[in-house]
Amino acid sequence: MHIHPKITPIYQTSVFKFEDLNELEQYFGEPGSRYMYSRNGNPNSDELAEAVNQWEGGAGAIATGSGMAAIFAALAACCQAGDHVLCAADIYGGSSSLLNQELSRMGITVTYVPFEQLYELEQFVQPTTRVVLAETISNPLLRVADLQRLATECHQHGLKLVVDNTFASPVLTRPLALGADLVMHSVTKYIAGHSDVTAGVVVATDPELAARLKQISILYGLTLSPMESWLAVRGLKTLRLRMREHSHNALALAQFLQEQPVVRAVYYPGLPDHPQHALALAQGSGLFGGMLSILLADETEVVNRFMHRSQRFPFAPSLAGVDSSMSYPLGTSHRYLTPEQQQQLGISPGLVRLSVGIEPVEELLADLEQALR
Ligand SMILES: *Cc1c(COP(=O)(O)O)cnc(C)c1O
Repeated sequence: MHIHPKITPIYQTSVFKFEDLNELEQYFGEPGSRYMYSRNGNPNSDELAEAVNQWEGGAGAIATGSGMAAIFAALAACCQAGDHVLCAADIYGGSSSLLNQELSRMGITVTYVPFEQLYELEQFVQPTTRVVLAETISNPLLRVADLQRLATECHQHGLKLVVDNTFASPVLTRPLALGADLVMHSVTKYIAGHSDVTAGVVVATDPELAARLKQISILYGLTLSPMESWLAVRGLKTLRLRMREHSHNALALAQFLQEQPVVRAVYYPGLPDHPQHALALAQGSGLFGGMLSILLADETEVVNRFMHRSQRFPFAPSLAGVDSSMSYPLGTSHRYLTPEQQQQLGISPGLVRLSVGIEPVEELLADLEQALR
């Protein structure tokens, strides 16, 4: 019987069989010709890694058990004890905690660079600096980094650029094409897209870095499981369609919210008064993504009432699912920053982040309208 499935099945197995020693030698002699042990590589995680690798235009990729594992792998591929990392100050909270609390113990130090100074690295670079970590679109204020300019600046100082492209997705921006050396995603967000998978991916432009990633993935045990990989591959197939709808809906909501007197500010790169609007337009293939933040009155009570009233934006501290949700940066992602850091990054008690889904836009507008009333 010949079985020819159209879709890659889930290879829910931890290990693969060999007929004899010849097959074993084939495994070691012809990399990629067979599988042996799922942590070392399995058809499902390879399919995910290769699909994102193609889309991002890389020389090789790994799929990992989470976005955090992807950040760890990317930094570990570029740094060792004694090295120094420059990190954009507006970085995902998990990334700064990883650097501050864990990589520091392995002898890797970090300096945070304010968003405004990302293109003037001279004053931050040390002889041991190896890498710059930045996000295409930052959280929660949706600031957009000029990746081409940043890559040029990094390479002038002999540094590698690692880009967290989670908020943009490769539909909006392909950082490697703009000069970045590594790009990573929390696949948990847009790539999988349905709030039902935890996963990550890292892509490298250089085959040697890609080989380092693969080794790190195997030896630290970061490889993504077959089932999660399969779900993420399924999500990836509709990424282009979803990003169009996310972006379309978010722009309509941003325009509506801007007109509401109780909304003190709207942060969305698609609005003409966003500080990097022109850059976002050029770098984002005409789309601005599904994330936006709004500033309500700086009172917990006002935020709580808004959360209670909204039916279509449940408070769930993640993002990028097909169903809308909201998050509260001060109480979740930015909770452990000092009050000064929170203030510097614009994280105030009235700041609410919306992850705009792909529901009919009139329903989302109607929900926000009644919730803000
Ligand atoms: C969620 C997120 C991560 C971490 O990913 P996990 O899948 O939660 O480990 C990293 N970077 C950004 C920008 C994120 O939003």
